[in-house]
Amino acid sequence: MANLTALRDHNTAAVLRRIRAARETSQLELAEATGLTAQAISKIVRRLTEEGLVTPSGRGRPTGGKPRTLLSLVPQARWAVGAQLGRTALTVLLVDLGGRVAAAASAPIERGWTPSEVMDLLAARIEAVLAQVPRERVLGVGVACPGPLDQRTGVLHQATGLPGWDGVALGDELAARLDLPVAVDKDTTAGVLSQPGSADRAFVYLDDGLGAGLVLGGRVQRGARTNAGEFGHQVLDPAGPRCACGSRGCLEALCRAALDADRPDLAADLLGVGVANLLRLLDVDQVVLGGRAVLADPERWRARVAAALRARTPDPDWQAVEVTVARAGERAVALGAAGLVLGPWFGAGEALGAVLGAVLD
Ligand SMILES: [Zn+2]
Repeated sequence: MANLTALRDHNTAAVLRRIRAARETSQLELAEATGLTAQAISKIVRRLTEEGLVTPSGRGRPTGGKPRTLLSLVPQARWAVGAQLGRTALTVLLVDLGGRVAAAASAPIERGWTPSEVMDLLAARIEAVLAQVPRERVLGVGVACPGPLDQRTGVLHQATGLPGWDGVALGDELAARLDLPVAVDKDTTAGVLSQPGSADRAFVYLDDGLGAGLVLGGRVQRGARTNAGEFGHQVLDPAGPRCACGSRGCLEALCRAALDADRPDLAADLLGVGVANLLRLLDVDQVVLGGRAVLADPERWRARVAAALRARTPDPDWQAVEVTVARAGERAVALGAAGLVLGPWFGAGEALGAVLGAVLD
């Protein structure tokens, strides 16, 4: 995978993150907030201004001395693409440094298309949104898709529901088509990056499949082979229906069977049982629900999962869990994929999902 961070150092990222979060700030405040010296701040701000990332935006109230020049981020100084490659459709978003979506495109994926045909289509849709901005301002492309995959190499491994994709180097193939850096991650991990939240949280994604993206201790959790969060394949009933993974009675298979039988309340209650297991195992305090199945009737799913958690937690007042629905809705995964590219610029690539949050607040 190409280097997405363009050698930006830790201090520069911290300054940029602070300017973005504050919307308007002064060099004095930046020094206080980051602990860097006035000299260091001055040097970093000068470079960021020369690169067009930061601009003077007015004058602050004097605090005894001379008026302070205020600084703000120039959101359109750089761009990222966030894409979701699903089993039946793809979505592409053009996102600025502020996390705002400037353009979007989508397309259905026809059954029987080869990976090469799908990647050609994805590249074409990405080029279409990129045509709107100067190429030299494009940082790269983040692509999210179903796992299993190797996030480090961008190679897919028997991704569920994507037959023929085993061993496809999605990251390299797209990078070659676009001549841009490309980062690949699981859809669930991208989802958990799509909005700010607590240091211990889960994004539970019920779409064609069912999985969870995890942030624990303030860090994204991917596991030894970058495939943590296969939440849908916890077995709730060993004698239950056959799952797409080959096992029986997986939570995903039970939810799917309930949905196919037009019993959405049962499906939501089953999901609640699974989320309660997750809570007991990992002690998260926020759960964000996403995916088409949930978004079709968000309040039903939110309320029933929250009720299941209260019923299955020993001390629900002490172990309170906030259950919400993804703020970016159907765009959550693609937006989080853009965050894979934008995050490192703000020093938050691995640690926080807050990068894209300000615009959603
Ligand atoms: Zn399964």
